[in-house]
Amino acid sequence: MNKVLIIGAGGVSNVVVHKCAALPEVFGQIILASRTKSKCDIIAKSVNEKFGVEILTEQLDADQTANTVALIKKHSPKLVINVALPYQDLVIMDACLETGVDYLDTANYEPKDEAKFEYKWQWAYQDKFKEAGLMALLGSGFDPGVTNMFCAYAQKHLFDEIHTIDIVDCNGGDHGKAFATNFNPEINIREITARGRYWEDGEWKSTDPLAVKQDFDFPGVGERKMYLMYHEEMESLCQNIKGLKRIRFWMTFGEEYLTHLRVIQNLGLNRIDEVDYKGQKIVPLEFLKRLLPDPGSLAANYTGKTSIGCVIEGLKDGKKVRKFIYNICDHQETYKEVGSQAVSYTTGVPAMIGAKMILEGHWKKEGVYNMEQLDPDLFMDDLNKYGLPWHVEEWSSSVE
Ligand code: NDP
Repeated sequence: MNKVLIIGAGGVSNVVVHKCAALPEVFGQIILASRTKSKCDIIAKSVNEKFGVEILTEQLDADQTANTVALIKKHSPKLVINVALPYQDLVIMDACLETGVDYLDTANYEPKDEAKFEYKWQWAYQDKFKEAGLMALLGSGFDPGVTNMFCAYAQKHLFDEIHTIDIVDCNGGDHGKAFATNFNPEINIREITARGRYWEDGEWKSTDPLAVKQDFDFPGVGERKMYLMYHEEMESLCQNIKGLKRIRFWMTFGEEYLTHLRVIQNLGLNRIDEVDYKGQKIVPLEFLKRLLPDPGSLAANYTGKTSIGCVIEGLKDGKKVRKFIYNICDHQETYKEVGSQAVSYTTGVPAMIGAKMILEGHWKKEGVYNMEQLDPDLFMDDLNKYGLPWHVEEWSSSVE
């Protein structure tokens, strides 16, 4: 029987736990651990009501390797699914190495005091995981995650050569709040306020934050303005997609959201360094997170859809081809199914499928892997089976 330890009990975790519990033949026993145990208990209760499955819950501060090692030893899982925050990635990877357990996450490691979005720290674990005969699967969410798989699938089946990739990400939903982020506010605001970057002809080029924009007609949503920004999956894709000349990432934002963001920046509330307040050290962005709605709480009133995919250009049989591979996901449907909004759902489902691929042996390898380094076929089949159906279309207009 496969036992898994899931760390973190936020919006994404709620989806992962529900989806794993619905497949007892793959995930025989689930232990859910997080900093605040009561949040694990709420998820466990919902899973029990829906599927009659018992989830064991534990308190864990995964900033401490010793605690994490002790918890892994107590339960001896086959795999640890890390859906806590990117700050915990390295501690959890260390704990997996010490206890001989495979590892999976959905976001790259971030140092608390610097916004980097780089894989270098986790890639440095390559030899250690290889030598231990263990696997670390990085970025098994939607973007990174499914977008990497779309590219791997295109490389395997749709193109002889891929020249350009534009990843386009639209949340066309409405949560009815003046300002809220769809996943962890600290990570989200760090990402969006960073300088834009894209990769072209072998080098990184940068732009001012959200300075480059254009309209795009998103299937299921309609025309929206999308902004060029940096996103972590580009770092591995530019190395693993052969013949690639350019890769960019675009995300949509509404005017209201951007106005709030501008004010937050102007006031310095997005700072991630410590400031002194009445003799106490506080990090403004951590404080802001306290004030903003919990992304999970948006789910009940969320309407509309997400529409995310990859516009890919290249050659097939000597001819120029442009394809769009994408998924559309409906906030209300995902709420009905697992009590989460679509941004958590589109991240949690691929985390479950990535874990399933490892546990069933299809992807069981030694070392540290990004998603596109693995065979996409079974994963893509499972996206269709487990709630994230995808489509491929000839795409008439290029992304300027
Ligand atoms: P949330 O903030 O909702 O949840 C994070 C959870 O981690 C909380 O339960 C939190 O506990 C727990 N946690 C934080 N620190 C620790 C710690 N030291 N020890 C144990 N548990 C801890 O985040 P999300 O669910 O929105 O996101 C989860 C992950 O998914 C993030 O890494 C995010 O970047 C990633 N993500 C990836 C996407 C993708 O497409 N690849 C898209 C969206 C998110 P507490 O409740 O006590 O704060």
